[in-house]
Amino acid sequence: MKDHVLVAGGGIGGLACALALARAGVAVELLEQASAFAEVGAGLQLGPNAVRVLDDWGLLEDLQACAAFPDEVLVRDAHSAKRLGRLRLGAMALARYGQPYATLHRADLHGLLLTALQRQAGVRLRLDARVLAYQAGPSAVQVTLENGSSVSGAALIGCDGLYSRVREQLLGVQPLRHSGHLAYRGLVRSADLPRTLCHKAVTVWLGPRLHVVHYPVRQGQWFNLVAVVHGVLGQGHGGPPGADPQSWSHEAHAGDLKRALGPVCAELQAMLDAAAQWKLWPLNDRAPLRGPHEHAQGRVALLGDAAHPLRPYLAQGAAMALEDAWTLGRLRQAAPAQAVPDWPALLARYALTRWQRNARVQNRSQRNGTIFHASGLLRWGRNTAMLVLGERLLDNEWLYQGPPDPLASG
Ligand SMILES: Cc1cc2nc3c(=O)[nH]c(=O)nc-3n(C[C@H](O)[C@H](O)[C@H](O)COP(=O)(O)OP(=O)(O)OC[C@H]3O[C@@H](n4cnc5c(N)ncnc54)[C@H](O)[C@@H]3O)c2cc1C
Repeated sequence: MKDHVLVAGGGIGGLACALALARAGVAVELLEQASAFAEVGAGLQLGPNAVRVLDDWGLLEDLQACAAFPDEVLVRDAHSAKRLGRLRLGAMALARYGQPYATLHRADLHGLLLTALQRQAGVRLRLDARVLAYQAGPSAVQVTLENGSSVSGAALIGCDGLYSRVREQLLGVQPLRHSGHLAYRGLVRSADLPRTLCHKAVTVWLGPRLHVVHYPVRQGQWFNLVAVVHGVLGQGHGGPPGADPQSWSHEAHAGDLKRALGPVCAELQAMLDAAAQWKLWPLNDRAPLRGPHEHAQGRVALLGDAAHPLRPYLAQGAAMALEDAWTLGRLRQAAPAQAVPDWPALLARYALTRWQRNARVQNRSQRNGTIFHASGLLRWGRNTAMLVLGERLLDNEWLYQGPPDPLASG
């Protein structure tokens, strides 16, 4: 019998999962609902933990060809412009973690993984293939697609994002957590910015009930801007109420953003004014994972946002999806070289390796949101802690040293 696995979803997580499994000799069938892989999204950050995964897959050169590698994270006050904290990246990240810190356009990471996948034997990429349901039997999983057809494989990995159908069937309907935060995002060509604003840095501006992050992408030719404010889609933000909550790209108006931010320092305002167009998406997530059973059961596993959607305040959404995928690939590579491994056992080990780390990142991401937007005493405490503890507060050694090797724990 062939070792054939189904992957639902072709985002960063799905492509990475398919690549990791194909590299381990598995025949993969990837089912993506979209009719084409379009250039969607904007910037993403990849900590050294995520770059380590890409390096292990031989993709570091491809990353270097499209990413930027900031020298530092700068934390500043959105109103006074004062510097609150700094974390050196660049050579320091390399020395500390053996890998750089990268920032890039989501479409570039997606394209890089897609190209790598297309070079692999044994991969079938299917577009217009929307997964509706699955049936798990003793030796296979059968998936039903929206067009009425069905496919089966030895296992199913649900990489179908925040609104995952696979998750819904595995764990039942669970409500999303609405953060009450909206992310406005824009891209600015570096050539259109005053030189003083073209820092090779991840700059994080903090203010009460708001924060703004910008960093270079596309080898520094563009800057990605994300401004997070409190509000509700359709109520003073974006179009009329009733917009598709699953869309990543609601039309947004600079005037709404300006009103929501209020007065900010001149430097930040100049950066925001440089963006010709804004898109908007509401930030929703789920409660952190409570155990390995929420990551995998039997022949079905969840990966990336389907398992552990993240608020973007630790910038680890794509990184955790890459780590999940790498872990699966490594476990499959180490499985006995029989035709079809014991997939339920392998997926159980995957879930055991991943769930606590992913839950920790979910918790930290949420906590960062509260700290970033703090006012009053909490704000004072945050700024004082950054001053006193410096880089120790901003660095995340436990995170950037990853991913943990599933084979090391025995
Ligand atoms: C269009 C888009 C734009 C994004 N832009 C940004 C951004 O600018 N910045 C940022 O930080 N993060 C962005 N993200 C999120 C980020 O990519 C993810 O948080 C992270 O990379 C984890 O990826 P994922 O593959 O788990 O989930 P996702 O990236 O959400 O991918 C899920 C994939 O599954 C597909 N899918 C969903 N349901 C089904 C189904 N039933 N059957 C088959 N396929 C299905 C979706 O079409 C999608 O391709 C974006 C995600 C998407 C989908």
